[in-house]
Amino acid sequence: MLDKTTQDWHTIAAALDIEGRAFINGRYVDALSGETRPTTNPATGRPLAEVALCGTEDADLAVGHARAVFERGDWANMAPMDRKMVLVRWAELIEQNADELALLESLDVGKPISDTTAVDVPAAVRTIRWSGEAIDKVYGEISPTPANTLALIQRLPLGVVTAIVPWNFPLSTTAWKLAPALATGNSVILKPASSTPLSALRIAGLAAEAGLPEGVLQVLPGPGGSLGRHLGLHMDIDGQTFTGSTPVGKQLMAYSGRSNLKRTFLELGGKSPNIVFADANLEKAAAMAAVAVFYNGGQTCTAGTRLIVEEQILDRFMKLVLESASKWMPGDPLDPATRMGPMIDQAQHDAVAEYVGIGCAEGAELVFGGHRTLDETGGYFIEPTVFRGVNNAMRIAQEEIFGPVLSVIPFTGADEAVRIANDSIYGLAGAVWSNDINTAHKVAAAVRVGTMGINNYFGGDITVPFGGFKQSGNGRDKSIHAFHDYTELKTTWIEFD
Ligand code: NAP
Repeated sequence: MLDKTTQDWHTIAAALDIEGRAFINGRYVDALSGETRPTTNPATGRPLAEVALCGTEDADLAVGHARAVFERGDWANMAPMDRKMVLVRWAELIEQNADELALLESLDVGKPISDTTAVDVPAAVRTIRWSGEAIDKVYGEISPTPANTLALIQRLPLGVVTAIVPWNFPLSTTAWKLAPALATGNSVILKPASSTPLSALRIAGLAAEAGLPEGVLQVLPGPGGSLGRHLGLHMDIDGQTFTGSTPVGKQLMAYSGRSNLKRTFLELGGKSPNIVFADANLEKAAAMAAVAVFYNGGQTCTAGTRLIVEEQILDRFMKLVLESASKWMPGDPLDPATRMGPMIDQAQHDAVAEYVGIGCAEGAELVFGGHRTLDETGGYFIEPTVFRGVNNAMRIAQEEIFGPVLSVIPFTGADEAVRIANDSIYGLAGAVWSNDINTAHKVAAAVRVGTMGINNYFGGDITVPFGGFKQSGNGRDKSIHAFHDYTELKTTWIEFD
């Protein structure tokens, strides 16, 4: 926890025994080919561990085990209160190993240790515990039919489900998928992102320790383009849940259409608007505008990348925003004081740098940051970056950069703010800052996104659904609503003589 110093974390990291094997049928195994590839620490550019490189033959083996256990009903037919106890025990084991998991996540993703200890690991624990505790409190329905009939409406598990997750929040997105999928009785095959497989592999072993039957959960590290595609096209998988980019989400929809119409739920990209009116608490709004875009180095699907500011306060507000931005200079992720770490890899670093160039070429004014930094570490660090004078038609306002780059866009009047906010292919999240209840509600209602904050950013918890409108996706993670993505509705119609 945060009573540890930077040196303490480095010492523990040096002694870590990292598991890189796949997890199939309740145990850690090598890929059938025996192949591995390294995962890298983005803060140093150095390899962390060798990880199994699973291929299509591992996938087929995993699907076979998942199908067999589903058909046997070891998990699917277990009483919900017993499934609950396994998930609750699993959450407890994760909590007991919280420091190790936070450290693994920090090393693998480059996330500040202050975030992984305070956010990522607790979020995973809460999600698994909450979903477990909820599952024996969910009732079916009896519909209002004539007296000589009885109609039962039940939610049944899909069967075998694939979960494919990205590298930016590996542990928490893994939990967002696994918790409702397992609670509702499915067998799951998880494919972590190639660059960040470690936390998912570690918690799979803890699931077995908690009593999850063999074959119910498999974790297969491997390339999206081949292994992920094979799973997407597989004829014996009933559902797939995905968090990642919009282009890959579209591919998964196509795989479903080309194979067996497996249920497909997607959580995709964003370009979220953060709207500030002149009557808002400007100090708070400016501090949160920086959190909204620089948290996790901007590698956040809900990042508030478009700061839409009422023209009359623009100069005054910019001063506050730049003051806040200066507090987000990156540093060693294992230093508890660090707020922002590196980009995930060289390619992501280069993509962000390219967008900085595009913004300048489009005529936006670069007023803060924009450079690579901490070169001596070997890591992929970039400064928090702010553009003003941005027009919403510019590429830096339309395309998901996935880095710490803020575009400030002026507006006059609520209608224009809403028009700019909605002028996007995405609809994941957003916020509005105003002390006028009418303005705040009117604007919040009109912005077409899955989650909207009023006088906050990143608000929400496990009790509320999370997901996108438009090309930000179709599924919903978290809350009881997530259970719907992993179940089929079944009607049983009974007639009495
Ligand atoms: P990505 O490139 O779409 O990859 C996501 C996952 O899909 C990875 O496991 C990847 O495997 C796999 N994959 C890649 N190509 C595939 C294919 N053809 N078939 C099946 N699987 C494939 O996304 P990312 O770069 O990891 O993550 C960033 C994106 O995720 C951003 O767009 C961000 O907005 C989005 N995101 C959305 C949410 C949300 O809840 N809406 C949350 C977090 C992130 P490899 O790693 O092997 O390529």
